[in-house]
Amino acid sequence: MDMPVKPEAPKALTDTFGRKITYLRLSVTDRCDLRCTYCMAEDMVFLSKSHVLSLEEMLELCEAFMARGVRRIRLTGGEPLVRKNIIWLIRKLGQHVEAGTLDEITLTSNGTQLPHMAQDLYDAGVRRINISLDTLDAEKFHKISRRNRLEQVLEGIAAAKAAGLQVKINTVAMRGVNEGEIASLLQWASGEGFDLTLIETMPLGDVEGGREDTYLPLTAVKTELDKQFELTPSIHRTGGPARYFTLDGSDAKLGLITPLTNNFCDGCNRVRVTCTGRIYMCLGQDDHVDLMAALRSENKNAALSEALDTAMGLKPRGHDFAMSDGKMVGKVNRHMSHTGG
Ligand code: SAM
Ligand code: SF4
Repeated sequence: MDMPVKPEAPKALTDTFGRKITYLRLSVTDRCDLRCTYCMAEDMVFLSKSHVLSLEEMLELCEAFMARGVRRIRLTGGEPLVRKNIIWLIRKLGQHVEAGTLDEITLTSNGTQLPHMAQDLYDAGVRRINISLDTLDAEKFHKISRRNRLEQVLEGIAAAKAAGLQVKINTVAMRGVNEGEIASLLQWASGEGFDLTLIETMPLGDVEGGREDTYLPLTAVKTELDKQFELTPSIHRTGGPARYFTLDGSDAKLGLITPLTNNFCDGCNRVRVTCTGRIYMCLGQDDHVDLMAALRSENKNAALSEALDTAMGLKPRGHDFAMSDGKMVGKVNRHMSHTGG
């Protein structure tokens, strides 16, 4: 008698360089209530709703990734918390964490919606959150984000802490903008029990005035910080591109994300999906595959799996961001808010 054929388990997502893809960043909206100068133009044109995946489709996509070995999902944007009913998707993903089919659901947020959403996030299963904050000075905050919301963001950070969320602060380091404030931001964050990660500006999409004038290499920032803090290299990794240092022998950590001064692509374990369902295998390259078409096709499971295989074949070795003769090179035309930070 013929033995029944056991269906083959779908194979883990692995690219042509042998890197396993276990981390998905999903941009749930390209919209935002701030207009950070390095990220967007003031008059950004946002996508119409008809071009954006529904939350139900986003859940299906996440589950297709989980079936192929993705263990961590970060929701981002735009501002993920301005997407209507986003808590529904977060709850669904939180249930996967509870069931052990996912290790973690997390978010990157600008913090403005946290005063009223932090507790809901915790209740939905979120335990860690990255909050972007470039300054503690209200006027400077207004200048950087083109909106007067520092107080609201600080309230949001406090609400996140009170709800029991582990907070990491993300700060884009900018010459002549917040470079004089980085040491005090670090001091503030460690006093609050938050890790702080500094990010070099990347050439993603057009913004007014260009980015070269405010580009600040983190090598220079680290040299300055070394004069004030005892920074010890740490083996701590969060699956992201940051290299970490412990601060003055404490538990507090400083992370450095250095796409321009120190390429970190070798260990890349992630892919990004836009709110229109395009999968980008690299923040800094244009290759992509349309998962929306697969998701909306008749035989969607097979179509999605095939599309993911195609995507794996296209994952490049890394980005080409660099400074050359005072110019940022390797630019891509998509804004970070579109691909998802
Ligand atoms: N709105 C959320 C926020 O601000 O945290 C999530 C999306 S935002 C695009 C994600 C991260 O990307 C933020 O920390 C932001 O500072 C960073 N970012 C945006 N544009 C960037 C750029 N051109 N270079 C480097 N970082 C950038
Ligand atoms: Fe919005 Fe985040 Fe971009 Fe700022 S960095 S404009 S908060 S998406």
